[in-house]
Amino acid sequence: MPYVSGNTMINEAWKSGYAIGAFTAHNLETIKAVLLAAQEEQSPIMIQIGQKAINEMGMKPLRNAIDSLIEYHQISVPVCVHLDHSRKFEQCMEAATCEFQSLMFDGSALDFEENVRITKAVVDVANALGLGAEGEIGKIGGTEDDITVDEKDAMITTVGEALDFSQRTGVHYLAVSIGTAHGVYKTTPQLKFDRLSEIKEAVQKPIVLHGGSGVPDDQVIEAVKRGVAKINVDTELRQGFIDGVQAHWQANAKDYVLADVMNTGIASMKEVVRHKIRLFGSNGKA
Ligand SMILES: [Zn+2]
Repeated sequence: MPYVSGNTMINEAWKSGYAIGAFTAHNLETIKAVLLAAQEEQSPIMIQIGQKAINEMGMKPLRNAIDSLIEYHQISVPVCVHLDHSRKFEQCMEAATCEFQSLMFDGSALDFEENVRITKAVVDVANALGLGAEGEIGKIGGTEDDITVDEKDAMITTVGEALDFSQRTGVHYLAVSIGTAHGVYKTTPQLKFDRLSEIKEAVQKPIVLHGGSGVPDDQVIEAVKRGVAKINVDTELRQGFIDGVQAHWQANAKDYVLADVMNTGIASMKEVVRHKIRLFGSNGKA
């Protein structure tokens, strides 16, 4: 199996000046779309399993499906399975037991000391097992799975808190709030590039950009130049999948062959993933 620790994968990208796409998968079809896109682009990738997918499908079935599809499609590019936005230490441990290669504890809704305490505990386990660990400081706006952060509550991460959090937790890569949001943007986002550069200079670690869907391509490229090495993409992939299915049903309203309908979604989503891989510069880096 071509699995690689998130720590290794993200640091390699960071040092070489490209970013890893962390693509959210929800079921068999979306896992397949991500894996085939990565193989065609010869790109290392992260497959993210988020809270919504875990609630609906179960962590273990999704994890097993990744194993099976990698084997079935003879995927040879480096793959890292990442737990996205976990809000429980216990769930992070469950993911480690299920052989995820990267864990995110999101304590951004907690007070600072509690966020530090639990994130550090997850990092300690990740270090012992050779896994990658991501933490979050500052609140990223929008809706992710079951959690909504009002735009007025979304906070731009300060350099001081980023540095303090990074040093005290030892986290391997750091999610910060620099003007992106989860979900669909109401207006075009404008990333806070000065703050991103200041944070990167201070912490000297790879930065993670959440809410990567809908950020204009030129801003994504600039963010990667300034130290972003992991970019989370979910919304645009779901849009790609569903738009593909809807277009098929508009043309073939009576097509009840489920596999054919799903294939149009897979093909459409796969093209979105391939575009993102090229944009992030990870194509050909397998
Ligand atoms: Zn996120």
